[in-house]
Amino acid sequence: MIIAANLKTNLTRAQTLEYLKNLESCLNENSITQEVMVFPSPTSLNAHDGKIIIGTQNAYGTSSGAFTGEIGSMHLDEFGIKTILIGHSERRHILGETQEEIVNKFNFYKNLGFKIVYCVGEPLEVREAGFEYMMEYISKQYEGIDSNYESLIIAYEPVWAIGTGLTPTSEDIALLHKELKKKLPAPLLYGGSVKVNNAKEVLSIDAVDGILVGGAALNVEDFCTMCEIA
Ligand code: 13P
Repeated sequence: MIIAANLKTNLTRAQTLEYLKNLESCLNENSITQEVMVFPSPTSLNAHDGKIIIGTQNAYGTSSGAFTGEIGSMHLDEFGIKTILIGHSERRHILGETQEEIVNKFNFYKNLGFKIVYCVGEPLEVREAGFEYMMEYISKQYEGIDSNYESLIIAYEPVWAIGTGLTPTSEDIALLHKELKKKLPAPLLYGGSVKVNNAKEVLSIDAVDGILVGGAALNVEDFCTMCEIA
């Protein structure tokens, strides 16, 4: 199982370092062997010599250059970061990243051999328009990426479930994941309002290979409990 925490624009660098220290000792105390990833804010990126994989929530598809406000792969190299989140709904919908930009970013980091956690997921109106339409919508979100890339992990995160406390039913997650797995051979995570009290149910669904947790991962004990449940 892969258990990932997306800390988004939360926790300062000092808080993140404390968080990682506490998480590391909790994982060790409980002899947790799952693959655990944390995506902190860019100011908290740093090499981490424990078992937790640190990934970046974003980076530009370049090593360096005139891209004001972005970080490039050379900045990630400096911190030993080899894992990236690409295509998150907040970057697609709030920051306006287009599919073309997302594919360019994917190709750039694939060529560098990064582990890529690639997100897809539909807004509510798309889900309400029916299963086939929804699958069609999601397929456009992975159009252009190499789905056979060996270091690819897919995260299915319905937009309407992110930060809302709403989740699809287990049957819906199972159906969607089964369909996605036919198209995408990569490990498949579920994300969207996963918490301590529903993690067991979500993780026990066939075709769920892990979880990507936002809000509930901000509490280190809760996130560690989710790792234990896995
Ligand atoms: P929440 O767990 O807060 O719903 O966020 C999910 C998410 O966006 C993880 O990337």
